[in-house]
Amino acid sequence: MTDNPYRLPRHVTPSRYEISLTPDLEHHTFVGSTIIAIDVHEATSTVILNAAELAISSATFSNDAGASVSAHIVTDEETERLTLTTSATLAQGRWNLDLEFAGILNDELRGFYRASFTDVDGNEQTIATTQFEATDARRAFPCWDEPDLKAVFSISLTVPSDLLAVSNGAEAGRHDNGDGTTTVQFADTMIMSTYIVAFVVGPLEATDPIDVDGVPFRVIAPIGKGYLTDFASEAGVFCLRWLSNYYGIPYPGDKVDFIAVPDFAFGAMENLGAIIYRETALLLDRDTTSLAEQRRVVDVIAHELAHMWFGDLVTMRWWEGIWLNEAFASLMEMKTTEAMHPDWERWMAFAADPGAERSDALTIDALAESRSVEFPVASPDEANEMFDALTYGKGSAVLRMIEQFLGGDHFRLGVADYLRTHSYGNTVTNDLWAALDRASGMPVGDIMNTWILQPGHPLIDVNIDGNRVHLSQRRMLLQADETDTSLWSVPMQIKASIDGEVVTQKFLLESDSAIVEFPGPVDWVLGNGGGHGFYRVNYPDRELHALMGDIESLEPLERLTLLDDVRATVVAGQNHAAAYLELCDHYRNETQQAVWQLLLGGLKEIKDIISNEQLPGFEKRVRSIVAKRASEVGWEPIDGETDLNNLLRGDLIRAMGNLGNDPETVAMARPFAEQLLDDPASVDPVVGQASLFVLAAHGTDKDFVRLREAYDDAPTPQLRQRYLQALCSFDDERFVKQVFDWTFDETIRGQDAAWVVARMLSNRESGPEVWKMVRSGWNDILAAYPQVTVRHLFDGLPSLSYPEVAADVEAFFAETEVRSAKTLAQMLEILRVHVALRQRESGRIGDALPV
Ligand SMILES: [Zn+2]
Repeated sequence: MTDNPYRLPRHVTPSRYEISLTPDLEHHTFVGSTIIAIDVHEATSTVILNAAELAISSATFSNDAGASVSAHIVTDEETERLTLTTSATLAQGRWNLDLEFAGILNDELRGFYRASFTDVDGNEQTIATTQFEATDARRAFPCWDEPDLKAVFSISLTVPSDLLAVSNGAEAGRHDNGDGTTTVQFADTMIMSTYIVAFVVGPLEATDPIDVDGVPFRVIAPIGKGYLTDFASEAGVFCLRWLSNYYGIPYPGDKVDFIAVPDFAFGAMENLGAIIYRETALLLDRDTTSLAEQRRVVDVIAHELAHMWFGDLVTMRWWEGIWLNEAFASLMEMKTTEAMHPDWERWMAFAADPGAERSDALTIDALAESRSVEFPVASPDEANEMFDALTYGKGSAVLRMIEQFLGGDHFRLGVADYLRTHSYGNTVTNDLWAALDRASGMPVGDIMNTWILQPGHPLIDVNIDGNRVHLSQRRMLLQADETDTSLWSVPMQIKASIDGEVVTQKFLLESDSAIVEFPGPVDWVLGNGGGHGFYRVNYPDRELHALMGDIESLEPLERLTLLDDVRATVVAGQNHAAAYLELCDHYRNETQQAVWQLLLGGLKEIKDIISNEQLPGFEKRVRSIVAKRASEVGWEPIDGETDLNNLLRGDLIRAMGNLGNDPETVAMARPFAEQLLDDPASVDPVVGQASLFVLAAHGTDKDFVRLREAYDDAPTPQLRQRYLQALCSFDDERFVKQVFDWTFDETIRGQDAAWVVARMLSNRESGPEVWKMVRSGWNDILAAYPQVTVRHLFDGLPSLSYPEVAADVEAFFAETEVRSAKTLAQMLEILRVHVALRQRESGRIGDALPV
């Protein structure tokens, strides 16, 4: 620990901070002071804590005995440390450290920073807000900025009297200073980590507090947007109650505020009692949003509230344990959303949705550049890079796998025991395994260590041999490596058809191979029964065809994972793309939205690697798979159908219009898209949105101009986001250039710039042109985009699989040093995998396409 320049020595530790801050929203600065109660464990004349981008003007130590010692101040911006050297030795015991400092409200979306918005009267307004995780509290006040150095925080803010100020604790007092400012004092927090401290000041409006079993709960929005808070209020009440009940422990803070902020680098942040959200994750108008947009809000609310216990009350000792925080909150997010809206089928979405969920996590984890879920972290950069698909997606998937294996009750008992045992403290991963061992009587740690402490997951080969099924495991890699001999302890559920009767057998595969016996001849076997296992299954031709013949016997989640497994083996070169297309033919009657979503994602991946000559045949093949279901579902919502069926309607419209390039669909989409642009409430949100994306992919100059106007005037965060997504879906180089330029001015917010470019890089037609812009504009990107967001741009690279473009990408990054090197390495590896896939398939996929 001591040889790491980013870790603090422990001879002095804090127990309480009294922090006073005065932000100047007009000049983007702040001044502050803090009195930190510290314990000096060994007499010393050197005290080291964290500070970054702060001008520290004075530092004085004092104690109850009347001693007062001033300190020499040295700051090191590289290690973000503040070293205080005293002329006299500080004796062992309790001291107070008084510090005065000043800083800037930056526009980097981290530390104490500024966000802005235009109010209904057209005035530019500023909000001062915070984002401290992982290591940016030190940009707002000097502190011991490590998660296990917990303390009590007493915060006071001096602000213009007409602004609202919010922090972790409830407001405990206020004083009118008589000069147009008011000092607001907040109640002491519980003992907690620096990274969940928060404060927000600005022209904000709050809902009346709702009493949720004794906890006052409000939703706070930029002024003028209060009418978009109803949905979040309702979801917040449900989630807070449901989670308290699940954990069996009362909410640990004294109130809950949800605060929507217009510039935010992440989805949301779990600051105790003051949860900050990006607007699209909190503010919503029911009438113009789709199920997917509503589900996102409930998900994020549930996730952040789950952290109030798991993360805030009990915290990882150091950042290598962040996986447990995030994986667990993601698991609880799905359980809570499922409880609130069983009809949304959250576990299906988990398996199919892009982003940091199951399928993408399996892809990243099948790279040589994967990492173990629990991974050593030294520097702040490395800590920030931990917030990825492995931490969230793989982490929550393997927790779900073990929950299914132990049973929900045992799992819940173990979790409650863990939280009670370690309240206000810090933990390592083994503490959770120990609690689950106690609750279940199973060797949970032994099983889970194979999933958490080594990278990768297994590919399980299944072979039918009469009454028996042979299983063998090897590491799943998108680029095969015969020398890798990793093994996993795999809690499997094996489903088989025996003489037409379907049976399921639980089996713990602990060695490289095993044989499972069944009571009769096996017709077909499914290696991931239930669909919750975090592994891939490889089916030889005969076994795959046997399954194809009886697809209807599988559960929806099983049909989904089967498709995804075959898709993955194609990408890994273990199977032909033609096999995936053939499997898709058997899904023509599929009714489940998530299954279609995943199926279409697989087709898009194939579309990205075929040649222009093959494209018409491919589009025809897509239409032959999709057309039947698309015409059944139609264009208008049907009375009595589920919301998911409507969501499917949107997927199929886009699939026919864009993936299948069907002229009739393209023509049909236009009036719906125009209706959406004219009056969003007049068209079904799903049909309108899908039509808009079809229009954009076939759009004209006039459409582009019209969309830009709609984007500027969008009345809700979701509509604004949709219009922006549509603006980056145009193929034409001129439009792409315009959107790229907008990422450097006020048109596109810093929080969105990197994903917008990633989305344009993923476009089959314009991607290579966008790459040229990125390449030549790289220094501008680094200067203009918030640094913490730049890595999201790398997500677009895997689509650039034209060999000459890919070579250029590789060459550029070979000589360009970047932050988030791990993310980049992963995306470049997927790019290489796609180039190889293109080369393999170029000569053979044509046979599978109609002429
Ligand atoms: Zn989280």
